[in-house]
Amino acid sequence: MGTCSYCGTLFPKTRSTRKYCTPRCKTNACLTRKPSRIRAADVQALYALLDREFTSAEVLQERLRAILAPATPPLPLEGDRVIIPRLD
Ligand SMILES: [Zn+2]
Repeated sequence: MGTCSYCGTLFPKTRSTRKYCTPRCKTNACLTRKPSRIRAADVQALYALLDREFTSAEVLQERLRAILAPATPPLPLEGDRVIIPRLD
């Protein structure tokens, strides 16, 4: 038996499945993984950021997120500030 590296359930290890219980878990694990390499086009985009000026750190943070993790939800910016949700 093995423990799925994604969902943690026990599953019988076979020749083809050693780390993940199902192909779906393997795919999900692949999608949530933070890539350790950056695409050439993204490197160019990062260099372009060096030449730009930003009105706030949050604006820069949002640009970095859009380049490195486009699948993640964007920062809730309004103008150049993060929107702080009110509790009322
Ligand atoms: Zn699993």
